[in-house]
Amino acid sequence: MKKISASVLFLFMLPLWLMSQSENIDLGMIYKIKQEGLKNSKIEELAFGLTDFVGPRLTGSTGNTRGNEWAKKKMEELGFQNVRIEAAKNFNRGGWDNLKTYAAMTAPYYVNFACNPVAWTGSTNGMIKGEVMLLDVKAEGDLEKYKGKLSGKIVLMPSASTNEVNYEPLASRYTDAQLKDLSMASSSSQGRRQNFDFAAMMTQRALRIKISEFLKTEGAALILNSSGTYNIPGSNGANYKTGDKEPIASLNLPIEDHGRIDRLLRHNIPVEMEVDIQNKFFDSPTVYNVIGEIPGTDKLLKNEVVMLGAHIDSWHGGTGAADNASGCIVMMEALRILKNLDVAPRRTIRIALWGGEEQGFYGSTGYVDKYLVDPQTKAHKPDYDKFAGYFNMDNGSGKYRGIYLQENELMRPIFEEWLKPFADMGCSTITIRNTSGTDHLTFDRAGLPGFQFIQDEIEYGRTYHTTMDTYERLVMADLKQNAVITASFVYNAAMRNVKLPEKPAMKPRQNSEQGPRM
Ligand SMILES: [Zn+2]
Repeated sequence: MKKISASVLFLFMLPLWLMSQSENIDLGMIYKIKQEGLKNSKIEELAFGLTDFVGPRLTGSTGNTRGNEWAKKKMEELGFQNVRIEAAKNFNRGGWDNLKTYAAMTAPYYVNFACNPVAWTGSTNGMIKGEVMLLDVKAEGDLEKYKGKLSGKIVLMPSASTNEVNYEPLASRYTDAQLKDLSMASSSSQGRRQNFDFAAMMTQRALRIKISEFLKTEGAALILNSSGTYNIPGSNGANYKTGDKEPIASLNLPIEDHGRIDRLLRHNIPVEMEVDIQNKFFDSPTVYNVIGEIPGTDKLLKNEVVMLGAHIDSWHGGTGAADNASGCIVMMEALRILKNLDVAPRRTIRIALWGGEEQGFYGSTGYVDKYLVDPQTKAHKPDYDKFAGYFNMDNGSGKYRGIYLQENELMRPIFEEWLKPFADMGCSTITIRNTSGTDHLTFDRAGLPGFQFIQDEIEYGRTYHTTMDTYERLVMADLKQNAVITASFVYNAAMRNVKLPEKPAMKPRQNSEQGPRM
């Protein structure tokens, strides 16, 4: 009798036991991943390749092509399979390379400026020399007084921003208290930008568009913007579409240089400059992704795909190191580790280095449109049901401290188990929150499980999209850990019995501001 009741009890307990054991983590494999990733890391070599060797990778530029070709070759060397550079989406801005930038103030005294042109703006007519005119404009009506006076002139744009002393440390990591707050957050919003004045930004933007139209009509020779913080010029792009007339040559000056010229002019001291900017526009109508994989080996599951990715494009000022060579090399290193260990994943593990993220997720959107969801009908394509999860990195060089659930509560118990072997690396926080602004959103919006890790900020806020985003910004020890954790996550996703759970489908909301936007 006793025996029977024990086995009845066992049968009764079985489903519960299976549930709690469902994350059958292979600790032997985690050990090997840690050994390979921490003691035999290739992160430094990959970092050098994608930053110093390749250079900046503005979407559609020659550097972008060089980056794609480097990544393809490297993936082949590392033994990834089905490696390819794949067309993702049309790019309506086309190619733009900066060939030369020289800018100096020549009166009242000589000083040269470290600066960079706004992407997709035009060239100066050789070396131009002349007086700088301050455009003192606070509203559209102020433009009237400059009519007929700007032809061939170097124009200093007004700037609302002044340099504020900053008492924050240059680099930072999450404190235990901040991580606890993240883990206890019940709302999905990221909680940043609460003081952000959207209306003011829109008014400012509308005025800038009016000014730039005015300058075009008046025939100004060069525009000087204030951009960035601390002696670091930012990089950005003009509102340009293939076929448009080339926008007026335009330079981003560091806030101090812009400020100096502005103050001199307001004291009625004439400022003269000499500037030579040569930019090349060319046909580059397509955004590409670089893709490679370790094919699955399970008869039934090998057509299912687990993905890891990051965007390979950057701005043109630095070498796009933290944003986002760091993500690319972590993903490449993660797959290298698995390849080196000769893993035989049940599902296929596929890496994608996305193009055109900075201009609006072109690469990842192109991929989802091509393989997963028809962009017109929204009908699921055959690969949709074989999609088994996506992991993205795009928050700089800081180490992983945990993961965003992206509101997918079903993932919490799974990630809890997966993170356990990494608690001693400081990576154990799970938050319900969404994190936004990059390529995992393309998958999330398509209803698929797409995730990004919580990362220490390090110097991200200060350096991203600037000339300072270079190899020096990379924290190699952090990136090594990230590769180890990513390798383990994609391995777990490729080995588990069932795919990662999608968010349960909901009835479409009437006024669906929150609904999926494609
Ligand atoms: Zn980025």
